[in-house]
Amino acid sequence: MSKSAISSRFPLGLAPEESSGSEFAPESGDDAYWSDSDVDEQTRRQSQLSRQQQQQQHQPQPQQNDRQHIRQQQNISIEQSQPPGITVSISALISIHNHSRMHMGWRRAVAGAGAPSRRAASTLVVGETTADGRVAASTLSAVGAAVQLGFPVTLLVLGGSDAGDAAAAKVHSVAHVLASPSKSLLPETVAPLVAAAVQTLKFSHVVAAASPLNKNWLPRAAALLDVEPVSDVIAINAPDSFVRPIYAGNAIATVKSADKIKLLTIRSTSFSPVDASSGSATSVAAPASEATPGSKWISEEVVKSDRPELGAAKVVIAGGRGMKNGENFKLLYDLADKVDGAVGASRAAVDAGFVGNDLQIGQTGKIVAPELYVAVGISGAIQHLAGMKDSKVIVSINKDADAPIFQVSDFGLVGDLFKIVPELTEKIKK
Ligand SMILES: Cc1cc2nc3c(=O)[nH]c(=O)nc-3n(C[C@H](O)[C@H](O)[C@H](O)COP(=O)(O)OP(=O)(O)OC[C@H]3O[C@@H](n4cnc5c(N)ncnc54)[C@H](O)[C@@H]3O)c2cc1C
Repeated sequence: MSKSAISSRFPLGLAPEESSGSEFAPESGDDAYWSDSDVDEQTRRQSQLSRQQQQQQHQPQPQQNDRQHIRQQQNISIEQSQPPGITVSISALISIHNHSRMHMGWRRAVAGAGAPSRRAASTLVVGETTADGRVAASTLSAVGAAVQLGFPVTLLVLGGSDAGDAAAAKVHSVAHVLASPSKSLLPETVAPLVAAAVQTLKFSHVVAAASPLNKNWLPRAAALLDVEPVSDVIAINAPDSFVRPIYAGNAIATVKSADKIKLLTIRSTSFSPVDASSGSATSVAAPASEATPGSKWISEEVVKSDRPELGAAKVVIAGGRGMKNGENFKLLYDLADKVDGAVGASRAAVDAGFVGNDLQIGQTGKIVAPELYVAVGISGAIQHLAGMKDSKVIVSINKDADAPIFQVSDFGLVGDLFKIVPELTEKIKK
C-alpha cells in the first residue's frame, strides 16, 4: 500500500507498522496503525525505560534504620465479581508499625486473564490547561504515562483555546494535537467528543489524569464506547495490565483489561511529567460530535493564583480541624509563602467551611506527593492518608502525641500549633 493510500485511510497519517511481535502488533484486517516515524526506536526505548523505572519505584523498598518496623505479610486472594472485560487480582501487605512511617508496599500479581485483544495501537491523552494557558502539570504526567504504553500519542487539550492548542503542540512525546472544537468543559460535550475521536481515529487507549474534570466525562465516554474504564492507575505493567490502589490505598490491584479500547485515569503523582516545551506536534482537526442535550456551557470563572498548584507543589502545608477556623489558615499561608508552598486541608476543615473544597486532600479530594508535606492539626484518618502518604518527607504538628498522623511522619512536633507554626515561620524568615 502506498503512503498516500494509507494517509487517506488514516486521518492522523498513521501507517501500518512492520510486525513487532508484541501483543498489540497489528494483524491484517485492522484498519489504523502507526508509521515507523511515529514510533521510532527512541520512543520504544524511552517507554521501556520509564516502565522499568515505574516498576522499581513500586517495589517495596528496604526500610531505613529510623523507619524500622515489624511487618507481618499476608497475601490476600480476593475473588470479586467483575464485569466481563476485566480481571483483577489483589495482593496486600498488612503491616504492624512501631511508631514509624507506614510502608504501603505491594506485591505485583498479574491476573491470569485471557489473551488481550489485538488492535491497532495509539493513545489519546485528554488534557487540561491552567488558568494562564499552560498545559496542566497533571496532563504532562498523563502524557508520561501514555509514553509508557509505547504507542504514538495524540493530545487533546479541553477548553477550545488557540493558546491551549499551541501549548499542547510543544509537549514532548506528543505526535499530534487534536484541536478542541468547543470551549465547553461539560461532560455532555466532552464525552461524545472523545468517543467520536476514538471511533473515527481508532485510538486503542485513552489516558487522562484522575482530576475532578476528567472523572466527570470519562465514565460517560466509557458508556458511549461500551468499555470498562480503569481508574486511578499508579503503574503500567503492559498495554493491557494496570496497577491501581483500592480500599483507600490499603490494597493494590492489578487489573487486566480485555476491552479493545482501554480508558484510563492515572494518578498524576505516580508518573513523571514530560517536558512542556521541547515537542513539535502537528495539529489535526477533531471529528464532528454532538453534545448530548441537558445542559449548556455558559462561561467559566477561574481563580488565578500566584501560589503553586496544589497537585504540583513541591511543598504542601495542610491544615485540619485543629486550625479552629478559616481566619487561622493565614498562619499556614504565611508559612507556605516562606517556602513557595501550596496550602491544603483535611476534609473536616473543608466541611467546617474553613477553606474551599478545592484544597481538600485525601480519598475524596486531591492526591499529592510533594517533597515536603506539613500536616498541621490533622489527626491522620486513613482517608486523609490516602491523599498524601506518598509524600517524600512528612512533618506533623499536633498537640496529641497519640495522633495516628505521627505513625506516617518522618518528623513530629507535639504541641500547640498556634505556638509552633508562627515560630517556625519566624525562624524560616531569619
Ligand atoms: C468516605 C469518606 C471519605 C473521606 N475522604 C476524606 C478526604 O478526602 N480527606 C480527608 O482529610 N478526610 C476524609 N474523610 C474524613 C476523615 O475520616 C476524617 O474525618 C478527617 O480526615 C479528619 O480531619 P482532621 O484530621 O482535620 O480532623 P480531626 O480528626 O478532628 O483531627 C484534628 C486534629 O487536630 C489536633 N489539634 C486540635 N487542636 C490543636 C492545636 N491547637 N494544636 C495542635 N493540634 C491540634 C487534634 O489533636 C486532632 O488530632 C473521609 C471520610 C469518609 C467516610
